[in-house]
Amino acid sequence: MKTKGNDSGSSVNVEKKVAETIKRYKLLKKTDKVVVALSGGKDSTSVIYILKKMGYNVEGLMIDLYLGQWSEVHKVNMTKFCKENNIPLTIVDLKKELGQGICFIKAVLKKQKNLTGCTVCGIIKKWILNKWAKEMGADKIVTGHNLDDEAQNVLMNFLKGNILLGVNSGPSAGGKSVAGFAQRIKPLFFISENDIRAYAKKMKFEILYDKCPCSFETYRADTRDWLDNISDKEKLAIVENFQKEVLKLRKENVVELKTCKSCGEPSRSDTCNYCKVVCNI
Ligand code: AMP
Ligand code: ZN
Repeated sequence: MKTKGNDSGSSVNVEKKVAETIKRYKLLKKTDKVVVALSGGKDSTSVIYILKKMGYNVEGLMIDLYLGQWSEVHKVNMTKFCKENNIPLTIVDLKKELGQGICFIKAVLKKQKNLTGCTVCGIIKKWILNKWAKEMGADKIVTGHNLDDEAQNVLMNFLKGNILLGVNSGPSAGGKSVAGFAQRIKPLFFISENDIRAYAKKMKFEILYDKCPCSFETYRADTRDWLDNISDKEKLAIVENFQKEVLKLRKENVVELKTCKSCGEPSRSDTCNYCKVVCNI
C-alpha cells in the first residue's frame, strides 16, 4: 500500500500511454491545430515534446504570471526548449492583459473576498488560455494535468460532498465544447506524476522541478500529502473507477457549456467564473 516512487512502469511507457489515451478517447486529429498550455514544468514540457514527436501540429502558449525569478527562469527555459524543438511559442504578458501580476491580483481578491489558494490563479489562467487559443485558431488546448491531479480532484470533490463537480472531468473534459472555442484535452490524464518526472529526467529536459512558489492551497496540499501514501496503481483505480461513474452521472446531470453573457468566453452558467471573481459581475 505505502509504495512511493515510480511503481507503475518505466518512463518508456509514457509515450505509449499518451498514444493510447489519444486513440481511446479520440482526443486529436492529425489536421488539428494544437495549442499546448506551457507552464514550463515537467508535465506540459513532456506532453508538448511527445505530441510534436508523434507528428501533431503543436504550438506553445505560456502566460507570464510575474512570479519573480520563478517566472523568469520558466520563460527562458521554454523559449530555448521551443526553439530547439522547432515549436512556435507565444508568451502572454499578464500585466498587459490584466494590468497586474498574479500575486497582486491574488492579494486584492484575498482582501476583498477572502479568496485564497490556487482557485483564483486557475480561473485567470483558464480564461486567458481560452481567449488566446481562440485568437491563435486552435482546435484543441492541451494541458499537462496528470493522474495525481485527477485523483486529487476526485477525492476533494468527494470530501466536499459534491462529486458532481467532476461531472465533466475526463481526458476530453466531457467531450463538450462551445462553437468557435478550442476543446480542452488532457493526454496525461492516466499517467502518474512519478512516471512523468522519470520521463522528463530521462529526456534531460532543462526545466525547473520546483513547485509554484504561490501554491499554498491547503486543501489540495493536504489531499496531495494524503495521496502520497498510496501507490500509483491505487491512484489509477480511483481515477478509472470515477471515470466509469462519470458516464452515468453525465447522462443524468447534463451541464451544457454556454458563452458568458459578459465576456463571451465559455461558461457553465450565464456569467463565467472569471467575470464573477475578477470583474465583480
Ligand atoms: P497547474 O495549474 O500549475 O497545476 O498547471 C496545470 C496545467 O496548466 C499545466 O500542466 C499547464 O498545461 C497549464 N499551465 C499552468 N501554468 C501555466 C502558465 N503559466 N502558462 C500556460 N499554461 C499553464
Ligand atoms: Zn465572462
